[in-house]
Amino acid sequence: MTTLYVLGSGSRGNSFAVESDGVAVLVDAGFSAREIERRAETSGLPLERVAAIVLTHEHGDHACGAARLARRLGAPVLTAPGTWARLEGAMKTAEHRAIGLCGQAEVGPFTVTACPTSHDAAEPLAVALHAQDGASVGVAYDLGRPTAAVRYLLRNLTALVLEANYDEVQLRTSSYPPVVQRRIAGSGGHLSNRAAAELLGELHHPGLGVVVLAHLSRQCNSADHARATVAPALRRVGFAGRLHVAEQDAPLPPIPVAVVGQVQLGLAL
Ligand SMILES: [Zn+2]
Ligand SMILES: [Zn+2]
Repeated sequence: MTTLYVLGSGSRGNSFAVESDGVAVLVDAGFSAREIERRAETSGLPLERVAAIVLTHEHGDHACGAARLARRLGAPVLTAPGTWARLEGAMKTAEHRAIGLCGQAEVGPFTVTACPTSHDAAEPLAVALHAQDGASVGVAYDLGRPTAAVRYLLRNLTALVLEANYDEVQLRTSSYPPVVQRRIAGSGGHLSNRAAAELLGELHHPGLGVVVLAHLSRQCNSADHARATVAPALRRVGFAGRLHVAEQDAPLPPIPVAVVGQVQLGLAL
């Protein structure tokens, strides 16, 4: 059994965990170590099961708790080399395992595969975790645009965590100055609800059982807007799984990730 833990997501912090066979991999540690410990406890995730901390990139909302957590858990930190170069000074004694921009690493029952993303960081990654039971989880956010590499990485997975950062109308009418609006919507920024809906329409396949919309902007989006844009697109392609929206301030209940052929048919659209 593979379980996805959505500890929290948004511009003030991102952290997820995937657990299978009693081994967990943390994807991003963008809250304080104490806050991640608190949220993991709320979710029923024993953090001592964390065998590695994967960091998608060095921005604080993805990495700020990593150094302390890695020390406390004695877990290695997996990052692209360029990301580590930015973080190394703060990481002190943490053990580093490099994962190339199109690399692969084995962690317990997981194969972690990475690909580069278009974002204004050193060497940002999207990642896919394949568990031995056939479940697989992709995590892709801080995507200026969905590149061919990201589409390829996220194909045929049983669960997807995908950015739905902003509603296009809310961004245009927000108090952000035009230069900031352009940065958010630009090729080094974030994915809109509409772009997420289009990408999910492309990525859908019969084995896709779980979609989690993530990294919602507090100023330019809401869970209702993201869901209202994405749910019809998923419905059109015949998605029969469950659609969740990650929250900034609290973890979601643990999400079982069914393997292909055992996808839950409970419609949550
Ligand atoms: Zn970022
Ligand atoms: Zn971010």
